[in-house]
Amino acid sequence: MKIAIMGKIHPNGLTIFEKNNIENFEIENFEEDSLIKNLSDVDGIVIRTANLTSKILSKCRKLKIVSRHGVGYDNVDSEYIFKNNIALAITGTSNAVSVAEHVMTMFLYLTKKIHLSNGLVKSGNFKNKSELPNFFELYKKKILILGFGRIGQELAKRCLGFDMEVYVYDPYVSEDVIKNKKCHPIKKKDGFELADYISIHLPLNDSTRNFINFDDFNLFKKNLILVNTARGGIVNENALLDALKNNKINSAGLDVFETEPPIKDHPLFKQENIILTPHNAALTLECRKRMSIESCMNVFNYLKNIKELNKKNIVNLSNLNF
Ligand code: NAD
Repeated sequence: MKIAIMGKIHPNGLTIFEKNNIENFEIENFEEDSLIKNLSDVDGIVIRTANLTSKILSKCRKLKIVSRHGVGYDNVDSEYIFKNNIALAITGTSNAVSVAEHVMTMFLYLTKKIHLSNGLVKSGNFKNKSELPNFFELYKKKILILGFGRIGQELAKRCLGFDMEVYVYDPYVSEDVIKNKKCHPIKKKDGFELADYISIHLPLNDSTRNFINFDDFNLFKKNLILVNTARGGIVNENALLDALKNNKINSAGLDVFETEPPIKDHPLFKQENIILTPHNAALTLECRKRMSIESCMNVFNYLKNIKELNKKNIVNLSNLNF
């Protein structure tokens, strides 16, 4: 049995293979020809953010499982995987807390204008604090959470802890579930009109691409703080740039980009009213350890110890013959 690890992961996960004498090797070269050569005889793949296309997958003669080190799987050709009786696994129990904390960090940073206060003190202008713009509280503000899955629900708990009013748009989650979590279900347009904060926790697919586009920025309040830690492309970047340039909203925080890495000199970099992080919301040390263990455990259990498999982590469970 042979497992490929595409991209470096925390060593804790690899010990699962080592303890069980399962051959495993790390891949750092993601060029197509090299991947076709190196993956041809593997039984399982643990994958971070590199792309796995149908061309590469079709050359993997023995592949039984692709296990994402994370929860989004838009970097793998899931259509090919689903058609070919290969399992697709995610680390469903690992990420939500770290990402929810990242959103709270962005909310607080942008709300309190921490970057401007920090700059003032460091430039020797401590006494000029009255020159800072107004900054605010989260208390009693209205947040709209788009997508009420694992991360959206963890974020809701934290916002309720700050006494915010939490509104949720997710037509696939029942209103009772939302209300039981002390949140208010709302329609998309109503939520856009009422929110002081919006945080996005949707998968990227054809129905969510450009989910927030030019017209939507005309519905938002001027004080809106918009944070996207889900996937680039869900918020149209040109529309966001236009809104920030013209002060249609207060500010934004992005952890994800339409193209990653974003181009050098991306026009958003020039804006003072945005903060940017390099798709690292889930990369706290604690979360990296959990994702490493969970992604390797998914492979090990699927191939060798099916009774212990966390079936909720297998995206295409109902279509598999095993
Ligand atoms: P999840 O599958 O648990 O939740 C997604 C929710 O979105 C579901 O409740 C679903 O019903 C809802 N949804 C789907 N389509 C919708 C639509 N068109 N309108 C409204 N709701 C819709 O996923 P999750 O674990 O909470 O992750 C959410 C997102 O965060 C994913 O895009 C994932 O890739 C991303 N993510 C980013 C990072 C990071 O490092 N920045 C880390 C983890 C996850």
